[in-house]
Amino acid sequence: MIDRSVQKIIADIAKARGEQFFPFIVQALAKAIHADITFIATVDPSRLVASTVAIDIKGKLGDKLSYDLKGTPCEQVADDGICFHDLNVQELYPNDELLQQLGINSYIGIPLHNSEGDVIGLLAALYETSLGNPKNIESLFLFFSGLISSELDRRNYLRDYKLAAAVIANVNEAVIITDNHQIITYVNPAFEQITGYSHQESVGRKPNMLRSDRHPQSFYDNMWHDIQSKQSWSGEIFNRRKNGEIYPEWLNINVIQNAKQEISHYVGFFSDITALKKTEDELNFQSNFDSLTQLPNMEQFIDTIAKNINKPSPKKFAVAIIDIDNFRGVNDSYGHAFGNRFLQKVAQRLSQSKRNQDVLSRFGGDQFPIIINDIDGPHAASKIIGQLQAHLKAPFFINNKEISITCRVGLSVYPDDSDCPEQLVSNANQALVHVDQQADSRYSFFAPSMREDAERRMYLKSAIKKSILQKNFELAFQPIIEVEQREVRKFEVLVRWQHEGQWISPAEFIPIAEEFDLIKPLGELVLEKSCQALQKLRSSGYTNICFAINRSVHEFPSKSQGADYWLKTLRQYDIPNEAICFEITESVLAPDSKSQISLLNDLKSAGCSLAIDDFGTGYSSLSYLRKFPVDILKIDRSFISDQQEDNNDWTLVGSIIAMAKALGQTVVAEGVETREQLQHLMTFKCDYIQGYLFSKPLAEHAIQPFIDDFDFADASPQQQKVVTLNQH
Ligand code: C2E
Ligand code: CA
Ligand code: CA
Repeated sequence: MIDRSVQKIIADIAKARGEQFFPFIVQALAKAIHADITFIATVDPSRLVASTVAIDIKGKLGDKLSYDLKGTPCEQVADDGICFHDLNVQELYPNDELLQQLGINSYIGIPLHNSEGDVIGLLAALYETSLGNPKNIESLFLFFSGLISSELDRRNYLRDYKLAAAVIANVNEAVIITDNHQIITYVNPAFEQITGYSHQESVGRKPNMLRSDRHPQSFYDNMWHDIQSKQSWSGEIFNRRKNGEIYPEWLNINVIQNAKQEISHYVGFFSDITALKKTEDELNFQSNFDSLTQLPNMEQFIDTIAKNINKPSPKKFAVAIIDIDNFRGVNDSYGHAFGNRFLQKVAQRLSQSKRNQDVLSRFGGDQFPIIINDIDGPHAASKIIGQLQAHLKAPFFINNKEISITCRVGLSVYPDDSDCPEQLVSNANQALVHVDQQADSRYSFFAPSMREDAERRMYLKSAIKKSILQKNFELAFQPIIEVEQREVRKFEVLVRWQHEGQWISPAEFIPIAEEFDLIKPLGELVLEKSCQALQKLRSSGYTNICFAINRSVHEFPSKSQGADYWLKTLRQYDIPNEAICFEITESVLAPDSKSQISLLNDLKSAGCSLAIDDFGTGYSSLSYLRKFPVDILKIDRSFISDQQEDNNDWTLVGSIIAMAKALGQTVVAEGVETREQLQHLMTFKCDYIQGYLFSKPLAEHAIQPFIDDFDFADASPQQQKVVTLNQH
């Protein structure tokens, strides 16, 4: 019977092709074994679900269906192999509802395996009655199972292959497959796109058609060594496109082996990383170079110093920091864009003037550090710095404006001052602080005492911060005498600070407060305390007294805050604006700063008076007075006290007073200590006198007695007997 059945089935299968294969074989089998239901099903790898690929129900093909394997005889087939149950199948599988619905009593099923032996499906027959001869059915099933399995396996493989092919064709990564002789058998569309070679042009050639000349032979030798020994290689490689362009790619090569463990194919995956490299290069550039000037930045600069030091026999070199004077003024006067353009020009000028072996850099702001290589000692370094300073002196022309600058330079020398890169830079910075403002040579070499000085500054900085929070600053008030009326009209407010029992001079702590951004809160405190003192004085009837308050440009409010930032404190204490004069040091005002000019204009129109302090020490230009809406000019102390015997200086003071008056300014002479000085100033018709001759700065409670007892004619150094705050 089997023979005949087999022949019949084979004859039927021979007619079946493609999609028809499974229905044909199922129907032929069903007929041969007289089953009520016969089916072939695939089983998913987790063995949870079976899906019929063909099912015969009583001689007719049924619709495909999927069912849960759990609790069915098919589960047993999938797990344990061939299984048959005669008549009692419903009792054995009470949860299999389908068996009951279809009235099935007998069952036979065999598993279907792929070439690796995994269960991929099953072939089963169901009967409403008895199986009859299960052995015959089993033999027949087993006979055909190989055929069915291999067809199922082939279809699965085809499905997977189609899926893989579709994926490969659509991925962004290039895929290249070669045979074991490295002859290309396949490339995907991404490969065509990246390399410019079509599939047709590539197949039959070797991948070395892409070779660039960027790598030595040893690179490829190592790569192939890895491929042979580790079955894979990945890395960055430069290849050449069809159009000759060289590009970087990230390449992965894998080996495919056949059943005999021999290499059958090589598969390469790669992607074009040009864009990635570009961003990487940009990031690298950004982290090592200053974007404005393209000069190396701090990290890069420090790195270069370290490399210098780590050479087998390092040579002496200097680290110099070039700091542009009054860059802030340029920025304030002409705006940021102009300031940036200016810095670029400075960078250009310095790059052109420096020697080839020297390394210029920019740390941001207006500082240009430079490594001066291969020097015998400080003398050689100072000579080179002198040349750079001379080059910088020539004017710059930007947007039809002529800008002339000077610069200060701080230097430290390796190995004399340190053998640590950061320390060399820090020492040069400390030396910079010590460049004498007035001296002819505008550079300074580091000295160990400067380190102590820097340490003291840091120490004072934290102490100032703390004292501001605790409002631990006091005020001293120095009388300013009006010559014509011979009476006390003003007091200059001078801040006083006692720290750990010591009076510290504002000449020391004000620059520190400025350097570390503490001057604004300190200035607010001074203004508040001044207003409190003036309010008291006014409520005692002294309403014609004016307070002169020192303001550093670092205290200037931001544009959005404007003049009101200072005026609101006056309002708070009910002080008329006319009772306050703000003193601003000449050297820090920027000649063309629009924001500074507009702030001063606002203060002036609000009624405050404005004084230029320390006149003669900064730009020393009377034309300056026209630009700023100031009404008072304070001639610096050095003109009055230091050169009292020098007639020339009195001529200078005389002409300053004459010109200032011609411009409508009121003149205050400060630092007046002797009657003789007073005499000179009175002949020049100086309006106000301030100095130890009349009084040292006074404590608040000494103000009223001073005003009450004041007698111009009596004025003599003896008047200092009144209580003074601090040593002066
Ligand atoms: P300044 O504004 O030029 O103040 C005048 C300085 O000269 C004061 O020094 C004063 O005590 C001193 N002085 C006055 N008369 C004579 C004299 O006849 N002979 C001599 N040898 N000196 C005289 P001080 O108080 O040490 O202040 C130093 C500088 O500190 C001030 O110079 C000012 O620029 C700054 N300063 C003081 N208080 C403040 C403040 O509240 N805010 C700001 N931003 N700066 C202040
Ligand atoms: Ca002053
Ligand atoms: Ca002054």
